[in-house]
Amino acid sequence: VFVCFEGGEGSGKSTQSRRLAAWLVESGYVAISTFEPGDTEVGRKLREIVLSPETGEISDRTEALLYAADKAEHVDTVVQPALDRGAVVITDRYVDSMLAYQGAGRALDLGEVEEVARWATHDLRPHLTVVLDLEPEHGLGRFEERDRIEGESLEFHQRVRAGYLRMAAADPDHYLVLDARADVDEITGQVRAAIAPLLRQ
Ligand code: C5P
Repeated sequence: VFVCFEGGEGSGKSTQSRRLAAWLVESGYVAISTFEPGDTEVGRKLREIVLSPETGEISDRTEALLYAADKAEHVDTVVQPALDRGAVVITDRYVDSMLAYQGAGRALDLGEVEEVARWATHDLRPHLTVVLDLEPEHGLGRFEERDRIEGESLEFHQRVRAGYLRMAAADPDHYLVLDARADVDEITGQVRAAIAPLLRQ
């Protein structure tokens, strides 16, 4: 089973994905929690290049390809091998981050970004994507330090959010949209309820 958390800055994705993995392990499943960008050795370097303010300007296509490279490494060396071992894999960000940030956020063609992202991931798709939805005004306020992306305009982050909501609305069977401002434990409960039927399959 492959589950993905998506959402804007400060939406609580990493907390929820770690909580879900811990709960699954306590319940007797083999489960791993992982993330993009950066949860491989080469990914850490790519993350540093793409997010450090010291990098300066990156062209939109270069940025997309760096994220795609991180994804290819992640799928080939972490996600797919774990799924092959029968583990439940929970990832904090995946293909939809590229569709939302590089597709909806940047001035790139969404179809082309999707093609690159699908190629990079061998078109491996999650059984469920949980979108932790949050108005960018709320999420961005949680940070003091800004990386390259958090410093983008509010409009950019609004396009990202709208991108996620569009994807979820177009495929309700594979998405769960939750209000990221809700109580953390309540969100955890809703996520568990949505995962349970997948584990029985
Ligand atoms: O989720 P996390 O905070 O680790 O993401 C790191 C940064 O990378 C965020 O600022 C996010 O907006 C950015 N990002 C991006 N495009 C992606 C994936 C992440 O701009 N495809």
